Amino acid sequence: SQYIVGVSGGIGSGKTTVTNLFAEQGIHVVDADIVARQVVAPGTDALHQIASKFGSEILNADQTLNRAQLRQVIFQQAELKSWLNDLLHPIIRQTMWQQTLLAKSAYCLLSAPLLVENELHLSVNRVLIIDVDESLQLSRTILRDNSNAQQIRAIMAAQVSREKRLSVADDVIDNNHDIAELVPQVARLHQQYLQVAENIA
Ligand code: ATP
Repeated sequence: SQYIVGVSGGIGSGKTTVTNLFAEQGIHVVDADIVARQVVAPGTDALHQIASKFGSEILNADQTLNRAQLRQVIFQQAELKSWLNDLLHPIIRQTMWQQTLLAKSAYCLLSAPLLVENELHLSVNRVLIIDVDESLQLSRTILRDNSNAQQIRAIMAAQVSREKRLSVADDVIDNNHDIAELVPQVARLHQQYLQVAENIA
């Protein structure tokens, strides 16, 4: 696609819920979290490099990356952490853009939790932010992840603020209500994006 809508929002804000609704309309969704896993799948160059750096103990029996182990190894080892980031970030970026270019839908979505943190919002055509109250964000995420408030609060604190995210938004979806209320919001934006995409095609 020529027209790329960047989608973001904090942890548990509803990115997946919203992008699934666009996908139902036939819109291709590139998900940064999925790409981050694809680039270290068995057989990839990145995984070979990780295995030579950290040893084959970093692999599971089925040759997939043992993520929990990797997290533990780089935890509080700034040098290894930045080695890993320097390896993976360019590959993830390149793969994401490649997938958006290959997308056959009229426009496509690039969904990234860290869209703003990683400054990807500067490279997309339009920025769509999923907005939710922090209290709802917390309670929904606790419910989904079966985790505690303290853990989720720590993740929220490490992400950009709601205000910062909203300040870079071209469009905002309000996810403070029932999931059903997302449907008309997505339908309206879908029509809007289709029209713009048609005009630049
Ligand atoms: P993450 O970045 O953590 O992967 P996300 O932004 O993709 O999260 P979702 O997984 O879509 O967020 O939503 C978080 C949780 O909240 C899910 O369990 C989802 O079903 C639920 N949820 C989303 N929107 C609503 C809503 N309007 N009402 C009730 N529950 C909702």
